[in-house]
Amino acid sequence: MEVLPKAIVQAIEALSDLPGIGSRSAERLVLNLMRSSSGLDQRIASSLSNLKKNVHECKTCFHFCEIEKEECAICTNQSRDKKVLCVIETPLDLIALEKTHEYKGLYHVLHGVISPLNKIGPDDLRIHELVSRIKTHSEIQELILATSGSTESDATAMYIAQNIKPFFTGKISRLSRGIPSGGDLDYLDIGTLSRAISERRDF
Ligand SMILES: [Zn+2]
Repeated sequence: MEVLPKAIVQAIEALSDLPGIGSRSAERLVLNLMRSSSGLDQRIASSLSNLKKNVHECKTCFHFCEIEKEECAICTNQSRDKKVLCVIETPLDLIALEKTHEYKGLYHVLHGVISPLNKIGPDDLRIHELVSRIKTHSEIQELILATSGSTESDATAMYIAQNIKPFFTGKISRLSRGIPSGGDLDYLDIGTLSRAISERRDF
């Protein structure tokens, strides 16, 4: 016999499906929400139900973007340096790089890495879009392959470089050493990431 009402069990199950949230944390969160009188449960519910309704991907860089706009806040920011393009795995990496205040160029979000084990090939990522973006934007002079340190990330960077090199005459660079193998950019402290981007090396 279940000791908790169905609605509570469902909320716990839903939360514990999130990566990084075990069933004990989910239980605590839900029981806290039951106790709170500030309307936090409603605020969470309505902000989550608006997420996918109000956000889509930027047509240029594939970062998240307001639904009523075609391009994101970074692509439309006139003070960004359009000569440099930084290729990253996820919007989390973008957030991490923005926190360094070191990088002023544009981004291209792949939304993952090539991973044969997980059946993710180049066509499942935004790689074709990246290639045609570089072909059609002759102002781009440098491409920074800022994928993280895992083997799959390295292989993805290699694949991109191979597809770009035949026509791209600009510089292709990679973050400097110091990214732990397999570590995501957003796990790095700001100082380390800041150095990794400012001391980037040729690929
Ligand atoms: Zn964008």
